[in-house]
Amino acid sequence: MSERFDVVVLGAGPAGEVAVNTLLKAGKRLALVEQELIGGECTNWGCIPSKTLLRPPELKGQSGRAAGISTPQLDWPSLSAYRDYMVSSHDDSKRVVRYEERGVTVVKEPGTIVGPGRVEANGRVLEADAIVVATGADAVVPPIPGLAETGLWTNREVTALTAIPDSVVFIGGGVVSVELSQFLSRFGSHVTIVQGPPRLADREDPQIGELLGEILAEDGVELLLGKRAVGVRSENGHKIVELDTGEEARGQEIVVATGRRPRTQGIGLENVGVEPGRRGIEVDERCRAAEGVWAIGDVTGVAMFTHVGKYQGRIAAMDILGKAAKADYRAVPRVVFTDPELAAVGLSEAAAREAGLNVVTATIDLPTSIARPYTYEEQPKGVFSVIVDRDRDVLVGAWAVAPLASEWIHTAVLAIRAEIPVPVLKDTIAQFPTFSEAFGFALRSLPEEETLMANDFSAHPMLEEEPEPAEVR
Ligand SMILES: Cc1cc2nc3c(=O)[nH]c(=O)nc-3n(C[C@H](O)[C@H](O)[C@H](O)COP(=O)(O)OP(=O)(O)OC[C@H]3O[C@@H](n4cnc5c(N)ncnc54)[C@H](O)[C@@H]3O)c2cc1C
Repeated sequence: MSERFDVVVLGAGPAGEVAVNTLLKAGKRLALVEQELIGGECTNWGCIPSKTLLRPPELKGQSGRAAGISTPQLDWPSLSAYRDYMVSSHDDSKRVVRYEERGVTVVKEPGTIVGPGRVEANGRVLEADAIVVATGADAVVPPIPGLAETGLWTNREVTALTAIPDSVVFIGGGVVSVELSQFLSRFGSHVTIVQGPPRLADREDPQIGELLGEILAEDGVELLLGKRAVGVRSENGHKIVELDTGEEARGQEIVVATGRRPRTQGIGLENVGVEPGRRGIEVDERCRAAEGVWAIGDVTGVAMFTHVGKYQGRIAAMDILGKAAKADYRAVPRVVFTDPELAAVGLSEAAAREAGLNVVTATIDLPTSIARPYTYEEQPKGVFSVIVDRDRDVLVGAWAVAPLASEWIHTAVLAIRAEIPVPVLKDTIAQFPTFSEAFGFALRSLPEEETLMANDFSAHPMLEEEPEPAEVR
């Protein structure tokens, strides 16, 4: 016998949860199918535990650099207890109850789409007008000889660990590796990163990779860049990663951080005519994958961030509710929560040029440009860059490596998404002294002739005529 719903959501990560919550408010009857834990990777082994684990090392680093404070001590037992609290010790029973109290049918089993409008989970058949696929992504394990036999960790073991290992080798140098390396190394582990490309976070602007490398090197992380892992073996209780250069890296544990693969296999996509591409389930701007099927979050491969999955969850829910909603990915922020933070949004300079835009950029050294860095720490560092399309005179990208960058980059998110004219941004009053002042400073340091309407205040209805300067008494 089958059970009837308006919508079945497959996967209860952040994307699936937002879809459920949005549809629930609209009065829909919902089934939520989850094979592991409500909250998915982000809540249990990703964003939440990693940011919790990074906070004390960040605070220790910041305290060491600020005037008038002696460096506090890290305390692993208390942090690991707080991490356990933050992930509810991987027990989602209260969350299940909360959903059920609100009328959602939660099925804690692997689900498979068995036909249009039909999902099966351990013998239960759930029927609905709409299926939302939100199955997320798995850590990729590269086929390096010896790796599987020797044993490996992914983000799951690192974010859930109970004792800090004396040494760790990360294979891969992207965001997950950079963040977890800083955490482990500040807690006393000897960390080595083996990265094939010549820079860390190699999809970002080259300067970002260089800066992240400098930050980690100061923490004592050994960087083996431009080198590939070709074999793994065990020796005297340690794991040895063999490199293509003939060098070796040794660690108590090996952490694989070589990207994430959308979970598209074994969920019955073929039964609704969906053939996933290399990057995941292909969706249109309304997150539709096929008639009666929507896909959201990491499984779409659009940009593997919780905020993108949550955004897509809202878009899909709105579409199911018959409301006009189209996804716009021009201003997706990307953050690396190291100390200091990296935050970027929109296009890199290279991507903007590749897209054929008429680009002008300004990159500023924050300590010599604005006041906040020296009030923040004694020997501050920080860089901020803006990428402007000079034909339209709007921001198309920005990045920063600086304290709190994850917070103040949001001005650029808004500017790119809303296409706020550069003269308006230049005329905006930023609170003093803050890192937000960097926007005005960077934009004003663009060559005047490079921006079409640099000082033409009358060109923008959002601006009044420039007032006469007030008389000084
Ligand atoms: C270490 C780490 C740190 C991160 N930090 C950040 C960060 O700071 N900020 C950020 O924005 N992003 C971060 N991310 C990325 C973020 O975790 C993902 O983008 C996010 O979890 C994607 O959400 P999702 O709902 O698409 O998928 P997931 O969170 O992967 O959830 C998918 C769910 O579907 C379930 N599922 C799969 N198949 C089935 C099935 N057949 N039946 C039933 N259930 C199924 C899974 O069990 C899972 O619970 C981080 C990732 C990692 C690994």
